[in-house]
Amino acid sequence: MSSSPRATQVRVPVSARLFDRAAAVIPGGVNSPVRAFKSVGGTPRFISSARGCTLTDADGNDYVDLVCSWGPMILGHAHPDVVEAVRRAAGSGLSFGAPTEAEIELAEAIAARVEPVQRVRLVNSGTEATMSAVRLARGFTGRGKIIKFSGCYHGHVDALLADAGSGVATLGLPTSPGVTGAQAADTIVLPYNDLDAVAAAFAEYPDQIACVITEAAAGNMGAVAPLPGFNAGLRRLTEQHDALLIMDEVMTGFRVSPAGWYGLEGVAGDLYTFGKVMSGGLPAAAFGGRADIMNRLAPIGPVYQAGTLSGNPVAVAAGLATLRAADDEVYATLDRNAERLGALLTGALTAADLAHSVQFAGNMVSVFFADRPVTDYAAAKASQTWRFPAFFHALLDRGVYPPPSAFEAWFVSAALDEDAFDRIAAALPAATAAAAAATPEGPSA
Ligand SMILES: *Cc1c(COP(=O)(O)O)cnc(C)c1O
Repeated sequence: MSSSPRATQVRVPVSARLFDRAAAVIPGGVNSPVRAFKSVGGTPRFISSARGCTLTDADGNDYVDLVCSWGPMILGHAHPDVVEAVRRAAGSGLSFGAPTEAEIELAEAIAARVEPVQRVRLVNSGTEATMSAVRLARGFTGRGKIIKFSGCYHGHVDALLADAGSGVATLGLPTSPGVTGAQAADTIVLPYNDLDAVAAAFAEYPDQIACVITEAAAGNMGAVAPLPGFNAGLRRLTEQHDALLIMDEVMTGFRVSPAGWYGLEGVAGDLYTFGKVMSGGLPAAAFGGRADIMNRLAPIGPVYQAGTLSGNPVAVAAGLATLRAADDEVYATLDRNAERLGALLTGALTAADLAHSVQFAGNMVSVFFADRPVTDYAAAKASQTWRFPAFFHALLDRGVYPPPSAFEAWFVSAALDEDAFDRIAAALPAATAAAAAATPEGPSA
């Protein structure tokens, strides 16, 4: 998909200038690919501030935020409790390279919410969490091969980029140059929601598969929930073959329920990865799970894993304040807001007579221009993704900021208010009209 000349109706001269300046010093002008709007065209908005459910760009335009920093901001932006906790922590020193009491509190808060998690180690990003969990699974089992699913994204770990979702999907990449055959050779990539394929892989490689890693509910090819029985089937197969099950809850963890996807489904993994919500918008993440496995980590075990800034006191403070504020009422509000957003989308797409599947994975929402529910990556790619750029820009022009990719989930916060929903409802008819007028070749005249 190329950038469209009609993409930007609202003038954003400051963002345009900043994007040019950024591109001269930062590859593509961004520090994470999807931010560049490459698959939807137009000028990425440079954000100057955010509060509650509202983003404000460098030109002074306001947007209803339906990205929420790709998930973390369940409470909305600049939540007073979180900001105060960060201020207090920062005033007491930014990093010590030595343990703190707050790290214990965050680890305890995670373990208290997700029952199968008996031990927790803090890291700096979701990528580090999945990389470490896979290393630990290989160290624990003494096996080399891993199974991942097409369209699932587990960060930009070399071995996990094969057929990945998120930006890899947005840019249409099968994998990445720079990942050697050796790094990818032990990765078995299978279709999501296909238990027969998993059983066949275990039969083909007896005693060689260290782990299955899966998004507890897929959110990086759009929101694609596991079919009933899929995760339970992975649990059964991994147990039968003495392999570990890694539930990647970086996106779903502490968002879709107090205990993440585990709280909705109750299928226990051996290892878990977390990020996004658990650090409230600052860079921290975690992996955890069964004590007998986690205790193989250095310094008590031989599997090495470390981090200069791991357990950073400011990030830990943001995470703890976020989890403490995220009570049952917040989760009820998130669910209600997701339902309401989904109903508005369904209503507008139906009124425009567009084939669509508005689907949920917990309170994550997705819009597919497809005539049946999408259950795997092949179906996500086969949908009419070419309608998405026009749909996206019509919303953006009207002050609603959805994810700039057809392969990403939409994220609600508990801060969405009546004005926000009014703005979404008002923007949708023009957006569905733009999507209806789009053609596979690009926007119509
Ligand atoms: C975002 C994400 C990651 C990677 O986390 P980063 O902090 O971006 O490295 C891993 N797994 C899933 C499921 C994610 O959504």
